[in-house]
Amino acid sequence: MSQVTIIGAGLAGSLLAIYLAKRGMKVDVYEARGDIRKESTAAGRSINLALSNRGIAALREIGMDEYMLAEAVPMYGRMIHTPSGETKLLPYSGRDGEYINSVSRAGLNIALMNEAEKFDGVTFHFNEPCTGIDLSTRSPQFSSEIVVGSDTVIATDGAGSAVRQAMEVHIPEFSSSSVFLDHGYKELHIPPGPNGEFLLEKNALHIWPRHQFMMIALPNFDGSFTCTLFLAHRGGNLSGSEGASLHTSSLEGTLPTGRVSAFDRLIDETALLDFFEREFPDAVTLMPTLVEDFFANPTGSLGTLKCWPWNVDGKALLLGDSAHAMVPFYGQGMNCAFEDVRVLDSLLSEPAAASTGDQIDWELVFAKYSELRKPNTDAIQDMAEENFYEMRDATADPVFQRKRELETKLEQTFPDYFSKYSMVTFREDLPYAVAKEKGNAQDRLLMKICSEVNSVTDLDLDEVIKQVKTC
Ligand SMILES: Cc1cc2nc3c(=O)[nH]c(=O)nc-3n(C[C@H](O)[C@H](O)[C@H](O)COP(=O)(O)OP(=O)(O)OC[C@H]3O[C@@H](n4cnc5c(N)ncnc54)[C@H](O)[C@@H]3O)c2cc1C
Repeated sequence: MSQVTIIGAGLAGSLLAIYLAKRGMKVDVYEARGDIRKESTAAGRSINLALSNRGIAALREIGMDEYMLAEAVPMYGRMIHTPSGETKLLPYSGRDGEYINSVSRAGLNIALMNEAEKFDGVTFHFNEPCTGIDLSTRSPQFSSEIVVGSDTVIATDGAGSAVRQAMEVHIPEFSSSSVFLDHGYKELHIPPGPNGEFLLEKNALHIWPRHQFMMIALPNFDGSFTCTLFLAHRGGNLSGSEGASLHTSSLEGTLPTGRVSAFDRLIDETALLDFFEREFPDAVTLMPTLVEDFFANPTGSLGTLKCWPWNVDGKALLLGDSAHAMVPFYGQGMNCAFEDVRVLDSLLSEPAAASTGDQIDWELVFAKYSELRKPNTDAIQDMAEENFYEMRDATADPVFQRKRELETKLEQTFPDYFSKYSMVTFREDLPYAVAKEKGNAQDRLLMKICSEVNSVTDLDLDEVIKQVKTC
């Protein structure tokens, strides 16, 4: 029986444990933190997440999709909030049934750990921070100095992976890059109403876009919302149009640049309330614990991590954020990590994976996995960044706004047309790299078409779709 050590019992590690246990493997999962089922989790790190088709496909394969979706809140579109409090819903897709789901990070993690523990072969070891790995013996190292042996090690220990750092030191050809944004994020809270009701539209991802910064809010099952403020860490060199801006594809048709602020300027209650009352007046009235939350919750950083190689012979593999952490502007980090697990599992089914008897040829599997996956994770990392940088310039552009209107019309009219967003979010059958290439080609064409008309109603949709099909 193969024995696998997993480092990190987060979303990817817990899901992976289930997939491997279903194959009859013995799996030991070492987690730095305590058991989140017994200890309250620290606030501040994405309390809820958008689960979409790629993640759902992975949950479906282990029979957990319906269970997880039962406590998810569907989000059918983006609700844009202007500074004067007006709202406008921009649907995610022109087709019915294409929406994303707000799920609790802790709830999902706990459900996965509970499911994994149903298998005799799975054991979680908590409060065991891994400090590195001895690549000659494939033995992970721990602060507690416990000795762990297995056939291979899979590192799902997140963006700050200790295993990746050890690989960086010990593998001469290892390369990695981390690019951090000027913006950080902070989580805040809108509680439910007195009768447990949602105080904003329940089935939407809310956005308060303000060019230099923005706040978003995702609904929770209990009627509350978790808000995330994305704002520059420092205000030093931010001024008017020179300041770094923040946009997602959801911000089309938004507002002129607001007054700039930054986390280092929101130093006291007066500055904070002044900022919120000016920029988010309709939200601030729903945030009774704003001041406490703001000063108690940590400010997180946002970055893209790329590295290579992901595997050391058959001894160790990086998977999930440890291999390819990304900025959250496409809502795909977890979905991508879940797809990683699905792809790795599919390779374990191939006859070539078993070298002798039931022993897995991990070297072969890891090499194939890395080759298959790297172009796709590079693509989604790039698209997530593009949503930050490119949209900064595109959102105020009327041509871009017409393009978005046209995309919705095309989706409503032609069942086989998918916008780039839909290809990434709703098409688990389509590799990210294909979505990026096809999506970018479509975007270029539709921008050109929309630059030549004043209104989308001037366009012949049959003619447009003919051209789109050449992309
Ligand atoms: C603000 C924000 C919003 C996001 N929103 C979305 C979204 O809407 N949709 C989406 O798909 N993705 C989203 N993401 C991305 C998503 O959170 C990650 O991609 C996902 O958590 C990756 O899973 P993972 O298991 O690889 O890493 P993690 O979830 O980070 O898990 C790593 C685990 O390893 C443990 N660990 C760390 N170091 C060690 C060590 N040395 N030894 C042992 N254990 C260790 C950690 O405690 C943790 O349990 C968001 C991220 C952020 C920051």
